[in-house]
Amino acid sequence: ATPMSIMVGVGRGAQAGILIKSAEALERMEKVTVLVVDKTGTLTQGKPKVTGIRATGLPEDELLRLAASLEQASEHPLAAAVVAEAQARGLKLAPVADFDSPAGKGVSGTVEGRRLLIGNADYLRDSGVPTDAQVKEAEALRAEGATVVLVAVDGTAAGLIAIADPVKATTPDALKALKAEGVRVVMLTGDTRTTAEAVARRLGITEVEAGVLPDRKADVVQRLRAEGEVVAMAGDGVNDAPALAAADVGIAMGTGTDVAMESAGITLLKGDLAGLAQARSLSRATMRNIR
Ligand code: ADP
Ligand code: MG
Repeated sequence: ATPMSIMVGVGRGAQAGILIKSAEALERMEKVTVLVVDKTGTLTQGKPKVTGIRATGLPEDELLRLAASLEQASEHPLAAAVVAEAQARGLKLAPVADFDSPAGKGVSGTVEGRRLLIGNADYLRDSGVPTDAQVKEAEALRAEGATVVLVAVDGTAAGLIAIADPVKATTPDALKALKAEGVRVVMLTGDTRTTAEAVARRLGITEVEAGVLPDRKADVVQRLRAEGEVVAMAGDGVNDAPALAAADVGIAMGTGTDVAMESAGITLLKGDLAGLAQARSLSRATMRNIR
């Protein structure tokens, strides 16, 4: 496109809350055949709430207090939900030492001399914690669309916390508009398959890549590109940044992390996907100008 038509497109985008950083992103948007979209914080509000707690061998509030004490040190939306629930129950949190947060797995640390692990079942298992007693109950909660994190205290599974993240109000219509234009939609998430599929089903998404570790998200984008697709990737998190950079068009949420915005050619300032269809018509108009 000519510099002039690009400038016009960028200007119109800005008015609609669509921040276009790269001319290529604007040019390619109309040619996109697949939208790969992160679940947490992109399709969903990313402000999850605790919807259930199961404790084994200690009172529920005590499990929550320990878990929240550890999660204070994490910036993950799931962590915020656990801390918020503890605060709502008036629990007093303790300081945490030796904090670690392996990406896409969970968190660990020491609280009041006790060694805590919170995260998905693989993470606990890899750390030598048997989780068999928790797995069935966790699966039932996941089938309802909740994300379930397991809590281990001193090497023993001590319970689980179910956290549900409501879908953004604008998500269903945004996806409908893209699908009407024949765009294939693939959900990409580090969350488990059961939770991811419950959310996908509600949104009419049939393709789900679940349990994807942060450093593999870009691989999914690359694979689709190798299959000849023109790939747009929409995400909000630090863990989405490599995939955003690997896509033909990276789309960040304005409500997400700075790293995501820096890696993307387009930022949807309102923080939802409503601007996507608009970005495509903008792209079409821009390209038509030069033909
Ligand atoms: P998404 O791709 O959906 O944004 P992430 O890759 O950030 O999800 O996280 C994947 C999984 O890792 C979560 O579903 C959760 O099981 C676990 N996890 C990550 N961070 C935390 C945390 N702070 N507390 C508990 N679990 C966590
Ligand atoms: Mg996310």
